[in-house]
Amino acid sequence: MTDVVVIGGGQSGLAAGFYLRRAGLSFVILDSQPEPGGAWQHGWDSLRLFSIARHSSLPGWPMPPFLDGYPTAEHVIDYLTAYEKRYALPIHRPVDVQAVRRDGSGLVVETDTGEWEAKAVISATGTWSRPFVPTVPGRFTGTQLHTTGYRNAAQFSGQRVVVVGGGNSGAQIAADLIEHVELTWVTLRPPRYLPDEIDGKALFDIASTQVGGIGNLGDIVAVPPVREARDAGRLVARPMFDHFDGSEVVWPDGSRQEADVVIWCTGFRPVLNHLAPLGLRTKDGRIEVIGTRAADEPRLHLLGYGSWTGPASATLIGVGRTARAAVSEIKSLVE
Ligand code: FAD
Repeated sequence: MTDVVVIGGGQSGLAAGFYLRRAGLSFVILDSQPEPGGAWQHGWDSLRLFSIARHSSLPGWPMPPFLDGYPTAEHVIDYLTAYEKRYALPIHRPVDVQAVRRDGSGLVVETDTGEWEAKAVISATGTWSRPFVPTVPGRFTGTQLHTTGYRNAAQFSGQRVVVVGGGNSGAQIAADLIEHVELTWVTLRPPRYLPDEIDGKALFDIASTQVGGIGNLGDIVAVPPVREARDAGRLVARPMFDHFDGSEVVWPDGSRQEADVVIWCTGFRPVLNHLAPLGLRTKDGRIEVIGTRAADEPRLHLLGYGSWTGPASATLIGVGRTARAAVSEIKSLVE
């Protein structure tokens, strides 16, 4: 029996691997992607980190500098690929974990290539493969896609595009499109920009020290393209529409707008289907945790996903701290 099976080989799984190696525990990391990089492999072309390389590092080895300012997704993928090699992390790819169930004193991890028995499991499967799109009444005859389907503005050149969402993805994609399409940006509430001097590092510091995290400060990190579009007065948001009518989106006051495309930048849900046999899911689709440990299953820890598993746990700079805490608890459990 292996001490620990880590499910997911994105940044969270790697951070867990770093501390598991250091703790001297036996482990494997199972990842469903054929290549390293987790969700960073699927971002849009112009996606940049909201903090410089030095402040976007996993434990042990800093991300190499990116001389052209904020790192690209490709730079992050190169870093994660080199990180796996540097620490010789035992990653099996592509392996899809289908279920985790209890069996005596351990947990059995069922995959498409066989079973693993483990004393403990770390689930680090992220959110990217569960995009969330709200239900809007009416029928829309144009094209709809989620952030996950957006690559670049050339896809929609000259079209009437509605971008929905007041978070970082919505603001960045709206800014990316501004020169190339007839843009309407729609947000549930007026956009709330974080102060310009706040980047990923400052976000982490705030999230780690303030009760309630960054929620009171704002939703959007003013990365350079967003800041430029905002300062030029071109990133103006309308409130949310309330239904579709054929090729139009319609607001509660009756105003209408023709649209060819609606891009939903409306977030993600945690990927937890493989944990269903453990019966731990709450009504909101999460699992109740104490720190990173499932409240009702001491052999299961959750890493990444969002701040509910630890401050800034779903960021490069933040996941290390929660990974260290998870491995420390697991070490006490299995030894
Ligand atoms: P993922 O990267 O999603 O990795 C999970 C891995 O688990 C994937 O490889 C997946 O294939 C695998 N997996 C899933 N299910 C299974 C299964 N059943 N069996 C086996 N494997 C499975 N963070 C920052 O620090 N700075 C930023 O600037 C930043 N910008 C962001 C911009 C966007 C648009 C988004 C969406 C996020 C951004 N983040 C940023 C947040 C964060 O860094 C990412 O969400 C990050 O990818 C989360 O890492 P993860 O390892 O938890 O999940």
